[in-house]
Amino acid sequence: MLYHGKSQTQPRCHYCGGKIKKVTKTVYFNRVRRSDDDWVSDRTEVPRTKEEAQRLLNMPILSVRYTDQITTYHKREDGSRYAKTEYIPDGGKRVDKVSVWDGETYENLYFCNGNHAIAFGVLMAKSGHCTKAYNKAVREDQS
Ligand SMILES: [Zn+2]
Repeated sequence: MLYHGKSQTQPRCHYCGGKIKKVTKTVYFNRVRRSDDDWVSDRTEVPRTKEEAQRLLNMPILSVRYTDQITTYHKREDGSRYAKTEYIPDGGKRVDKVSVWDGETYENLYFCNGNHAIAFGVLMAKSGHCTKAYNKAVREDQS
């Protein structure tokens, strides 16, 4: 229903006037690499600060979540693997996850959600607006 769009300024919904959301990607650190797509990425690095995390990424960080726990990954003698999660000593913390944004992509350029696009369409139709396809079909009905 919704289509992403690029804009230099944050677009507002043509129905409710609300700001339209940015399309962000979530990056998790200190993880085994399971996903890496447009939406979510797991990274094995363990950055301690936002600046360290930013150096690992090619898009600006919008928000950061820290944690006081760290997971270490180990291998047993039989070759099987296990993970161990512990508190970071001395009250330390690390970056758990961040969201990044390319600086220009929004969920949509005109509407904050599909219902508002529909509501806007109904409003326009009620006030007499229509498409060329509609006009053509009505003309054909009358001839
Ligand atoms: Zn809206």
